[in-house]
Order: sequence, then C-alpha cells, then structure tokens
Amino acid sequence: MSGVSITPPIPSDSQNLAWADAHSHLQNPRLAPHLPHVLARARASGVGILHVNATAESDWSAVAGLGNAHSGFVICSFGLHPWFIQGRTSRWLQNLREILASRPSGIGEIGLDGRMDDGLDADREAVFRTQLELSFELALPASLHCRDAWGRMLEILLALPPHPAGLLIHAYSGPADALEPLAAKNVHFSFGGTLTRPKNARARENAVRVPAGHFLLESDAPDLPPDLPEGKTAHLTGENGKPLSEPAYIPQVGQLLAQLRGTSPGEIAAQTTATAKRLFAKLLT
Ligand SMILES: [Zn+2]
Repeated sequence: MSGVSITPPIPSDSQNLAWADAHSHLQNPRLAPHLPHVLARARASGVGILHVNATAESDWSAVAGLGNAHSGFVICSFGLHPWFIQGRTSRWLQNLREILASRPSGIGEIGLDGRMDDGLDADREAVFRTQLELSFELALPASLHCRDAWGRMLEILLALPPHPAGLLIHAYSGPADALEPLAAKNVHFSFGGTLTRPKNARARENAVRVPAGHFLLESDAPDLPPDLPEGKTAHLTGENGKPLSEPAYIPQVGQLLAQLRGTSPGEIAAQTTATAKRLFAKLLT
C-alpha cells in the first residue's frame, strides 16, 4: 500500500452515543429559534435517540418535519394531549390514522388531567381511550400524561391486557405500589428534571422502586428542567427568565438515577437506552 494510509471508517454519531431522551416536545415554539444548538448540545451530551411527542393536530406536521430532517436521531409520536382536545377537528381520528400510516410513529402525548377545571373531563377521557384503543389495534407504543387523575388512570390501565408494544407514562408521579402491577401490563416509566428537586420524595421513591427494564430518562423539553448543579447556568431561559429543559440535561438526570439506584451512570445509560430501543423499535425502523 505505497504510502496510502487506510483510515478506519468514521462511525456514525449514533454508534458512539449512549443516552436516550424518551419524551420531549422539540416542536415547541419556545425552542424553535434555538433548535440547531439544542440538537448539537444533545449530541455532544451523548443523546443518540430523541423522542418528540406531538400535542395537537396543529403541531403534527412540525413533529414529522423534525423526524424527517433528523432521521436515525429524532423519532416521533402523534396524538392529542389532554390539554388541547378542545381544538381538535371533527376529522382528528382519521387524520391521526393517516399520519401514523405515513411514517414510523408512536402515539402520544395522550392522557388524563384532573386539574383542568374546564368541564371537559368526560370528553378528555373519551379522546384518551380512543387513542389508547388505537395503540392496541395498531400495536404501537403510546406515551401517556397523567396529573391528578391516578385513580381513573389505574382503573383503565389495570383492566386492560398487557399492551402489545408497550406504554410509557412520562414524569411518573403516581403511587409506588402501582409500579409492579403496571409493569406487568407492559407499562414503562420515564424520569426527568423533577427527580433533581430535593423535595420530590415521591419521584425519588418511584425511581428506586421501578422494576429493571421498565424505566427511561426524559427531558420533557422545554418544560420541567432539572435543578442545575452549583455554578452551572441554563443554556436557555424562557420569557419569564426561568430555565428551559433540553435533552442535553439527560446525563445529569441519569447520574442522579444511578446514585439513587446504587449503580453506575454507564449502567443506567445502557439500561435506559436498551429499554428505549425495545419500546420504540417500530419508530426506529
Ligand atoms: Zn410532555
């Protein structure tokens, strides 16, 4: 090989990266002007899988656009978030079926919220159940929101057979005693910035008790940022001056989860990324 050196192929980014962000909203307008930097910081932090959840029909095309522009890195779910059911069109379910059929996707963010006080709780539950049934019918993973509606959520989920693809309850704040029975229904749980709040004993207890193979990490970007270590300032702040969450903080939350579970950050990265690859297998194809 006269003088020509052969260099090994440079591995693609995804081969070097270790972390997965199981739940975010990168389509949110608060992040839009900063998106190239947010994505670059995510990659630099070792985040190799970034799951973006839609919230309403009006943001589905933006979510699909992110997935298309960053395929192999950004994966997508589509659905109606319980905060935004009021704006749905009469054709929403047909529209949802169409976008799910058009590309590799999951269903999300869907769920219940008992703190809305808008008189729409029955409607909200009907929309949630329709989307949950669709996730069973299509065997697609679904990402769930639940706030102040744990009694009803548990009643619904525990009455169902194990989910064929898996469910993810993000920012889980339900009772620790429900972790095992839910895991038996193929439910998973993601933990994010709220875990870093010293007063959040419930999240920490859940993070310790959640069964192996059923937990993931999330940024919920742009909301629920972690408390940053002393001396660190947030990359981005919102109009109110408060920090915004972004996927680059995933390793910090992973390190805390490792401490809580008495293991190493590398082990947490390996476990949570393997779980994300299994749960989101249909989104990664
Ligand atoms: Zn969310």
